[in-house]
Amino acid sequence: MTKQLGFLEERKEAGYRPVGIRLLDFEPVEQDLTHEQVREQTARCMECGTPFCHGYGCPLSNAIPECNELVYQGRWSDALELLLATNPFPEFTGRICPAPCETSCVAGLGGEAVTIRQMERAVMDYGYDNGLLGMPPSMRRDELVAVIGSGPAGLAAAEMLNRAGYRVTVYDEAKRPGGILRYGIPNFKLDKQVVDRRIRLMEQEGIAFECGVRVGEDVSYHYLKDRYDAICLCCGSRAPRDMKVPGRENKGIHFAMDFLMQQNRRDDGEEIPPEQEISAAGKHVVVIGGGDTGSDCLGTSLRQGAASVMQLEIMPRPPAERAEDNPWPEWPRTNRESSSHKEGWDRRWCVNTRQVRGKEGQVTGLQCVEVEWVKENGRFQMVEKKGSEFELEADLVLLAMGFVGPGENKLADVLGLTKDARGNIQVNANHQTSVPDLFAAGDMVSGQSLVVRAIADGMETAKGIQRVLEQKAGDVPSSPASP
Ligand SMILES: Cc1cc2nc3c(=O)[nH]c(=O)nc-3n(C[C@H](O)[C@H](O)[C@H](O)COP(=O)(O)OP(=O)(O)OC[C@H]3O[C@@H](n4cnc5c(N)ncnc54)[C@H](O)[C@@H]3O)c2cc1C
Repeated sequence: MTKQLGFLEERKEAGYRPVGIRLLDFEPVEQDLTHEQVREQTARCMECGTPFCHGYGCPLSNAIPECNELVYQGRWSDALELLLATNPFPEFTGRICPAPCETSCVAGLGGEAVTIRQMERAVMDYGYDNGLLGMPPSMRRDELVAVIGSGPAGLAAAEMLNRAGYRVTVYDEAKRPGGILRYGIPNFKLDKQVVDRRIRLMEQEGIAFECGVRVGEDVSYHYLKDRYDAICLCCGSRAPRDMKVPGRENKGIHFAMDFLMQQNRRDDGEEIPPEQEISAAGKHVVVIGGGDTGSDCLGTSLRQGAASVMQLEIMPRPPAERAEDNPWPEWPRTNRESSSHKEGWDRRWCVNTRQVRGKEGQVTGLQCVEVEWVKENGRFQMVEKKGSEFELEADLVLLAMGFVGPGENKLADVLGLTKDARGNIQVNANHQTSVPDLFAAGDMVSGQSLVVRAIADGMETAKGIQRVLEQKAGDVPSSPASP
């Protein structure tokens, strides 16, 4: 055990910058614990015989109790090595993972979970601060692999294939790599310098990045097939769910990702042409959708200087505590508040939008109605509450109602890759699509999910690619390293 009775000590979090100050900028809201504080917190780990954090909670199966023990002993480099063995990017998960490891931590059963996410982040930052990262592979193979898409799934696949000695090029249609890490998640949750730092490291390790290239249009499947031994599609799942109500055609209604992406581009120093500008400044903003994307819109609108922000959710407000049918160590279906929700907001549940009000083609408001969820024949049905209609003033409406699948992808569409009922790409146990030299990973396969799951899937796909290439080659790496 890390420390006898250590679990009796209090959980300490790093906390957030004060609201009044953090709303003045787009800088990260979460603060850091000192190394000594992190070490004290790891003492709370009980090194359980069955560590649910590791086996049940973490999609990457991070060896959490062992990492805690090493940090407690002050063996930061060893903790880093152990963490990197299962998670190539703890600096991302240590910042933006909802941490299913913590919700399944045994200490959380009768008290408060160990601060695992903060430990990960501190261990990784120790690695960067002490120059312990960025070693090119010790051997190189002849085979070349193209990874399409540089979100967490693509980066994880590239990193693992490069570690195994393959020569990897990552293509992305965006100007800069990172996928949703760069263009979706706001800077106040994930500092883009953290993404830049990782990309520099990957380049140093020998991975090439080709940005501004839309695969399927700027380069074809045949172009890639002639040059690469395997191709891995990691193009995400970004087709947004639309709101089909009268008045939808009014101006001033935008998809959440368009709004968030623009702010991230602005933070990156890009000029947004005035005719494309989506701004919440001085506006009454209504965010439709009560999930994380909606809360990112909320925080971004407040920082842009919105006059008011209202977030609407069609489902009922989740309970404050776990329901009986949702026991530990399951993911808690409780009401969660993001840092943005603590910044001044208005939020309503069980609300449906009936109609958009507009004047001269510009949105002016929404007609909404309260709803109830009634169980009929074992299924919940939405029923409008009579007489509960109400109007909301709005001159910017942001649609954050989730994603319906990968959407159009010329390469996948031209090749007629097999998809499931939801339009996600289907893969076999080696993560091969219906075209054998084409593999797929991440949200494109699972549907919109979490960064940690995209990383895990990218890693598994890299293993599948390696298995298939080794079978073809009869194994044995061929030349010394030359990244
Ligand atoms: C706004 C928002 C906030 C989120 N916040 C969190 C969070 O805080 N924590 C969390 O765990 N998860 C979060 N998620 C979910 C998480 O970001 C995704 O599950 C994850 O990014 C999926 O990774 P991916 O690599 O599969 O796809 P993506 O990150 O979507 O990357 C796909 C990449 O493929 C590129 N691409 C697409 N088509 C082509 C093409 N034809 N040619 C070349 N390139 C192409 C795209 O430009 C993109 O860079 C959030 C999602 C959103 C939308």
